[in-house]
Amino acid sequence: MTDIQKNIAAVRSSLPDGVELVAVSKYHPAEDILEAYECGQRVFGESHEQELVHKYDALPKDIVWHFIGHLQSNKVKYIAPFIAMIEAVDSMKLLKEINRQAEKHNRTIDVLLELHIAEEATKYGFSLDDCREMLTQGEWREMKGVRICGIMMMATYTDNEEQIAKEFTLAKDFFNEVKQQYFADAPYFKQCSWGMSNDYMIAAQCDSTMVRVGTKIFGERIY
Ligand SMILES: *Cc1c(COP(=O)(O)O)cnc(C)c1O
Repeated sequence: MTDIQKNIAAVRSSLPDGVELVAVSKYHPAEDILEAYECGQRVFGESHEQELVHKYDALPKDIVWHFIGHLQSNKVKYIAPFIAMIEAVDSMKLLKEINRQAEKHNRTIDVLLELHIAEEATKYGFSLDDCREMLTQGEWREMKGVRICGIMMMATYTDNEEQIAKEFTLAKDFFNEVKQQYFADAPYFKQCSWGMSNDYMIAAQCDSTMVRVGTKIFGERIY
């Protein structure tokens, strides 16, 4: 086994059953992704559309690609033909454009709504109130090209595990509220995407269904 394969096995074995591992491969070469692929990993996360398109072209077509970064509306068209999930929808404008591009390709693209809960001012995402407002307003109900499958967020980057757990719990409570109010009859609305290399074990304890782990698998990124 290679180091990458050992790391994947270690992360997988520490996750509860049913938690999906998204291997975050941004800034790592296609060969590294293949190593992970060869030990059964299929879901990969990328955050730059150009890099993703190159990797999509070069790699096996049964890879399930998640776009996890901030996506500009004018870039949606590059990934719309093949992207499985866009995790970080942070505006109505972006949601509309994903819908438009998906319809062009006769697809339905799964998306998550990104919440801004962390303390850092630089992180993208809806405030809880803006997200509520968007859902109440209801335009999303007419969008046949997108399927809202849950919530995504990043916790504050800190050593304070209590704070991290508090933020994940807040996200979970919000997920439950939204599920009950808008998606009670939608079995696909079930994803809680939180947890990265430094906090995925806390995330798993706070009901995450999807963790996005990069460094722990592929090593430090060289930007
Ligand atoms: C880069 C990135 C990750 C992975 O971070 P690591 O600390 O390397 O595990 C997860 N989620 C998002 C949104 C990212 O941009």
